[in-house]
This record gives sequence, C-alpha cells and structure tokens, in this order.
Amino acid sequence: MLPKGILIDLDDTILAYSAVAEPIWKKLCQEYAGRMDSIQPERLFGGIKKMSDWFWSDKERHKKGRQDLNSARRFTVSLAFRELKLEDLSLAEEMADRFSAQREEEIFIFEKAEGTLEILTRQNISLALMTNGEAKKQRNKVQRFNLERFFKSILIEGEMGFGKPEEAVYKRAMMELDLGPDEVWAVGDNLEFDVSGPQKLGIFGVWNDFSRQGLPSGSEVIPDRIIYDISELVEEGL
Ligand SMILES: [Mg+2]
Repeated sequence: MLPKGILIDLDDTILAYSAVAEPIWKKLCQEYAGRMDSIQPERLFGGIKKMSDWFWSDKERHKKGRQDLNSARRFTVSLAFRELKLEDLSLAEEMADRFSAQREEEIFIFEKAEGTLEILTRQNISLALMTNGEAKKQRNKVQRFNLERFFKSILIEGEMGFGKPEEAVYKRAMMELDLGPDEVWAVGDNLEFDVSGPQKLGIFGVWNDFSRQGLPSGSEVIPDRIIYDISELVEEGL
C-alpha cells in the first residue's frame, strides 16, 4: 500500500547523475595527460578522484561546495594538479569547467522514472520534490526533463536557503502537501538526506540503492525499505 504522499529526491533517484561522471573524467584525463606529456592519464584520474573524494567527504565543505559546483571542481582539480606537480594550473581550471559543462549535458532521466511519476500522480498520490544544490542548476534540470507537472511542491535548497537534512525541508514539504509524517514516505539515494533525516520526524524512509552497492557495513541508518529503482514503488503498474 502506498502512502498519501511521497517526498522524492532528484539526482540519482529520478535523474542519472553519478553514473555519467567517471566516463567524462576518464576521457578528459586522456586528453589533458596527452597535452601535458608529463603524466599518465590513470595517474591524473587517480589524483583528481582522491581530491574530489576528500573534498566531498566533509559535511561543511559539501554544503558550501554544492552551492557552487563549478568553483568546487576548479578547486579540487587544482589541488590534484598541485599534488601531482603539474604546473599549468590554467589547464586544471579548463578541465574542471569542461567537466562541469559536459556533466550537465549528459545527465539523463532513468528509464522508468517518468512512467513511475505518471502512475503515482494518476493514483492521486501527492508528490514533493526535494533536492539539494544550486538554484539555477537544479531548476534547469526540473524544467529540462519536464518534471514540474508531477509535483505539488518543488523544494530546491539553493532557492530556499536551507536543505536536507535540515528538518525544515521535510516539514515544509509535508506542509505544502498538507500531510503528516505518518502519511508520507521519503525516497532517495542519500542515506542521511533522504532516509535518516526524514525518519527522525517519523517518516517512512525508502533508500534508493541505485548503484546496488548495498548498505555500508556498520551503517547507522537502517532504511524502512530498500529499492533499486523508483519503478519498484509501482511495480505492477509498469
Ligand atoms: Mg540524490
């Protein structure tokens, strides 16, 4: 039985966001390593990945960085260049900017996402979209994939000035849907933002394990349900 309302995440839940990153970096590393001649592409890729993992592992850096992704990428790639003793930092910024542009371009909607949202709205389930990140980038994605029509409420961190896992986000979503915590589910790929944050308010938390990695060992967050694709919510209907 589905609830009266669902609070749904955007990136890696409706849109494929993470999957496109690595192939773009690998291609760029091939090209730029070739141009610099003093480093192997694999090493350049490893250096960028290391700095990026370091950067995004910290909550405060994450919060600030996701409000200006292009600058955050310039910063991490430049750090990698420094660590790898690559001197031309203008190439680092150029690489970061090309990644930023290509990634936006290559994001795509999961195959069954639109059909799922259609079925849910047809079943009169009220939907709220909750997404962290920049106002402009996130709003552009919503428009580009024509998602507004499915949602009663669209909550974008950059537009509101606050984001997941702040309680205010889930409360506002419920207020806009006019539903209480026992009447909604939250669905998304981030264990903290989409599962434990909502659970603290008594909301049923569904983890979208889109990359099928399984719960991290010793995870403190225990989802109420685990899915691999949002279409599982309406399985029979698709
Ligand atoms: Mg997400």
